[in-house]
Amino acid sequence: MAILDRFLKYIQISTNSDSETGTTPSTETQWHLAKILMQELRQLNMDEVWLDEEHCYVYAFLKGIECAPKIGFISHMDTSESVTDINMNPHIIRNYDGRSIQLNEKEILDVNKYSDLRKHTGKTLITTDGNTLLGADDKAGIAEIMTMLENIINNNIKHGDIFVAFTPDEEIGEGTKFFDFSKFKADFAYTIDGSDLGEICYENFNAATIKIQIKGVSTHLGSAKNVMVNSQLIANEIINLIPKEYPETTEGYEGYYHLDSIQGNVTDTKIKFLVRDFQKVGFEKRKKNFQKLVDDLNKKYNNCITIEISDTYYNMKEIITKHMHLIENAKKAMQNVNVNPIIREIRGGTDGSNLSEKGLPCPNLGTGGHNFHGIHEYICLEDMEKVTEILVEIVKLYSK
Ligand SMILES: [Zn+2]
Repeated sequence: MAILDRFLKYIQISTNSDSETGTTPSTETQWHLAKILMQELRQLNMDEVWLDEEHCYVYAFLKGIECAPKIGFISHMDTSESVTDINMNPHIIRNYDGRSIQLNEKEILDVNKYSDLRKHTGKTLITTDGNTLLGADDKAGIAEIMTMLENIINNNIKHGDIFVAFTPDEEIGEGTKFFDFSKFKADFAYTIDGSDLGEICYENFNAATIKIQIKGVSTHLGSAKNVMVNSQLIANEIINLIPKEYPETTEGYEGYYHLDSIQGNVTDTKIKFLVRDFQKVGFEKRKKNFQKLVDDLNKKYNNCITIEISDTYYNMKEIITKHMHLIENAKKAMQNVNVNPIIREIRGGTDGSNLSEKGLPCPNLGTGGHNFHGIHEYICLEDMEKVTEILVEIVKLYSK
């Protein structure tokens, strides 16, 4: 099946995940895509195909020559909950003229805002109709992996053992929650979940969530002097004592503190911060800063503040640098098909950071998609085809 047909088929199945349901998969719709992928993998004659009937993970295995390392490829089935993907109505623009694209009466894909568009002049673009996500994140990755498998099988390309996994709920940070390593026995893997063609990512943030709760004391306002303790004002004090390094004021390798939410009244205020830093040392220091700040304020306010610090994910760089063949071979594979490798840090995390932490080194490669998580999402068909070629090259390099 041509990659365009695959991609169009997958994006028309709504798979928005939902961070509120508390289940895995978080939405029933993800089963629809999982079942279609199961069917297609069986039609490809993969040696084994499994569906995790409880949690909606799809795994497949293609047996290869024994002396080669076991390699894996992973993409996620869900789409971001930020915008709906129901009634997806893709626009296919052939021989793109390099100008802004009118998505509907109101919405425009503006080349002045999204200058990457110009790189695709003369090529085929797939955009939304301005009302939904496209779902290239990450159905482009799925289509690329499936097409890679088909090419390898149909053209009898020499390969080692290949494992494939399609996961649910990556967008709500739960893509690896029930990942089954007894089904996915690769020595290492790539997630195909990045943006630009040629992108290779193996550095991401260290991440922690900090929850602070402040208990205040309420009184009649007329007799509040020296009695009332307003937890909201203490929260305000905490917020003002945090260094002003925010997502909106930082870039590149700079870390930040993000005030995620405040909920409160006089007697009870909860604040949640997200802490991000590429460096382990900086990460630990940021968490310590919080703890010290709370300890100091507790002395002033009679121990009314509690703090809970939990790590969410870590920078995979420390692990990947012990397996640099993953990066070198990805670069080489790209050069073999005339694509310029772009090494880029991720100002976030991927499923690969968790998998690397659990012993499966797993950098991330670009899918060719742009403007993820919004109605301006688009992808270039020729880039998807190139990514497929890159994946085939990677398989070939590891079977040598
Ligand atoms: Zn993604």
